[in-house]
Amino acid sequence: MPDELDTLINVLILEKKKNFNNSSVAGGLKNFIQFLNKPEFAKRIDEISLSKLRKFFLNYSELDLSERSAGVQEILSSIKEATNRDQLTKTYPRVETVGSDSNSIVRGETLIQEPSFFSDIKSIRGIGDRNSKGFYRLGIKNIIDLLRYYPRRYQDFSKLKTINQIEYGEELTIIGSISQDLFIRKSKSGKLSIIETSVNDGTGSLRITWFNKPFLKNQLYKGAPVVVSGKIDIYNGRMVMNSPEWEPLEKEQLHTNRIVPIYPLTAGITQRQLRKIIKQNLDIWGRRYKEYLTKQIIDAEKLPGIADAIHQIHFPESETQLDEAQKRFAFEEIFFLQLGVLIQKRNWVSESARPYSITTEQIHGIEKSLPYELTSAQQKAIKDIFQDLQSGKPMNRLLQGDVGSGKTVVSRFAIEAVVQNGSQAAIMAPTSILAEQHFRSISELMINSGSIQENQIALLIGDTLKKEKGKILKDLSTGEIKVIIGTHALIEDPVNFHDLQLAVIDEQHRFGVHQRKALRVKGKSPHLLVMTATPIPRSLALTVYGDLDVSVIDEMPIGRKPVKTILISPEERNNAYQRIREQIQKGFQAFIIYPLVEIEEEEDFSAAVNEQKRLSAEVFPEVKIGLVHGKLKPQEKEDVMNDFRSGKYKILVSTTVIEVGVDIPNATIVLIEGANRFGLAQLHQIRGRVGRNSDESFCILIPENEDNLENERLSAMTKTNDGFMLADIDLKLRGPGEFLGTRQSGYAQMKFANLTDLELIKRCRNHSKQIFNVDPDLKFFEHQLLLQELRLHWPELE
Ligand code: ADP
Ligand code: MG
Repeated sequence: MPDELDTLINVLILEKKKNFNNSSVAGGLKNFIQFLNKPEFAKRIDEISLSKLRKFFLNYSELDLSERSAGVQEILSSIKEATNRDQLTKTYPRVETVGSDSNSIVRGETLIQEPSFFSDIKSIRGIGDRNSKGFYRLGIKNIIDLLRYYPRRYQDFSKLKTINQIEYGEELTIIGSISQDLFIRKSKSGKLSIIETSVNDGTGSLRITWFNKPFLKNQLYKGAPVVVSGKIDIYNGRMVMNSPEWEPLEKEQLHTNRIVPIYPLTAGITQRQLRKIIKQNLDIWGRRYKEYLTKQIIDAEKLPGIADAIHQIHFPESETQLDEAQKRFAFEEIFFLQLGVLIQKRNWVSESARPYSITTEQIHGIEKSLPYELTSAQQKAIKDIFQDLQSGKPMNRLLQGDVGSGKTVVSRFAIEAVVQNGSQAAIMAPTSILAEQHFRSISELMINSGSIQENQIALLIGDTLKKEKGKILKDLSTGEIKVIIGTHALIEDPVNFHDLQLAVIDEQHRFGVHQRKALRVKGKSPHLLVMTATPIPRSLALTVYGDLDVSVIDEMPIGRKPVKTILISPEERNNAYQRIREQIQKGFQAFIIYPLVEIEEEEDFSAAVNEQKRLSAEVFPEVKIGLVHGKLKPQEKEDVMNDFRSGKYKILVSTTVIEVGVDIPNATIVLIEGANRFGLAQLHQIRGRVGRNSDESFCILIPENEDNLENERLSAMTKTNDGFMLADIDLKLRGPGEFLGTRQSGYAQMKFANLTDLELIKRCRNHSKQIFNVDPDLKFFEHQLLLQELRLHWPELE
């Protein structure tokens, strides 16, 4: 005899077979609700779960396919788990605060399971296996991520008017009912399906049109009470509303009649779906989000509590409340960054490290092996580094210097000090082209000066041949190899060092803090030197690099001339080619750079490929032109770069793969096509590929079209060669993202804070110091939630 539960199961299985088309029960699943109301069910299922089931069946017709399937699946699996017990008893899991280390769900105890803050989003109702992928792509892995997935902007539909008061151009909301049967027609071209109807609110009626939404015919009908929000337009002399947001009249509106959040989306997730899921979970979890900032901070900064802020940031009740919420999150971003920096630095300083010293004679020896004199800024940086190496504490130094200022050679001194004392050093660079270049120049200098043998230095990149790789890994673990140069292949697992004592990271803004750490942990508290050309405005340096000591190379090698930068229109392209020809005739070489066009997650380098062909055939038939882009194999890239370096190619056509670090002093001219597509920092980096000898160099910028000749970034490029000035300009034009490098810890999440707000930065520093001074490990009971939240902001914190 099938009991009530079996009936429920059968209905759901049938529904699944019928592809969730709401036909397993005559008249739709909502008709199953009367069945659920039978007392037999009440014996088997608790009231809370029952009411959830009722709600699910009631709303079933409005759910989309994935929501239907996820819901059905969820019920079936809860029943399955629960029937292993004698009865479907059900309690909610205990209330968990965010950050509590347990993410256990009391399995089988609820019919419809309730997830915890940290359980996978798949456990959320309405998210199944299939659309969970979209959520992962958005970086939403659990409920806390979902709550912290902030709107990109808002649409203010909070203005409510009656139809007799509306004016052209207004964005507003109307509450009324559909006053006319929905009429579907095709557009003249036949490509669009157009739905027409009207809404009446007692004061008048307003024509409404939707495009390509034929399914609305099943959702709306004459007489349906609705809320519509949109912009008032005029068509044929009458006011209309095109493509409004709409929803049935409810106690609380989600998509209309409020300040509506607009979230960044990805394929397979719609705005409405995301809004609904966030709202649903906000209602369940928002109030359980326990305050983690101290009362002192909340009071002093007059911040709203977290539960309020998290609600207001998603579904603001007013502009003012939205402002307040944003103010709180801006504060948090900088505050946690500063607190993290303080703790990070303390952790490092408390370690001890092996001291290395080097004699003046040895230093002179190295200097003599160089084909040039060091600048005094370089000498100063080297002195800083030797002080660190001798100190008995691990060095944590950032070497900052504009493109072409000569950072590589400074790192070589550190490498020598460590290697001459028998330990190992590693250099990690962001691209294989750059790793290869460092390998070439460093091994040449070090082998020639006799400080190491050929078999003691090696290059390790993703594409290093298996056999060769095996030998390198072995020699690294025995200590045979003293200097290893590579890409992030170095931090991938099987790489073991015998005695890594110095980690150098070049172009560190291209790496995340966790990658920095991954290299460091390959040794036992090794010394760390990170290098960057990222010219951080001084006002920010303290916030951003608070955990590192900084040496700045603020002068260029003698004899360098500033690169002459010219902005020309696409029509004048031939003049640019003429300039290139002149430089080639003088024996120099040229770069021509094309932007990558991103198509979804792929990158299109076809511009570079096609142009290389065209340039070779039509423009520069007399010389050889090389081509390099990201999709070439490392070996192919290396061959092209070598042929360019040796002068076989006079011109190198490239995408941005050569953006950082590439050093070919004989190249004196770079042409940047589609220049408006590049960020200022990128343009500055690319320009830095030339001007690396004492000859005059040129950078020619050609935007995609005439209009871009007014582009502020491009004109800034023509005015100055100073990276710091450009950084300041960029900060003003676009905010901090670009120059700081988005992957840097803390910054990927900077959504609210303005890093030029020095007042805020100062106040955050004071608050974080106050806490740090009394409780540096955040061990106090009242700091536990703060610590947990800090870890969300700084997952890499040691
Ligand atoms: P970056 O700081 O951009 O990494 P590099 O280390 O690649 O710069 O150096 C740029 C070029 O300048 C290289 O060709 C290097 O050999 C050269 N160089 C470095 N220091 C000096 C110096 N003091 N005098 C002349 N040339 C130098
Ligand atoms: Mg460099």
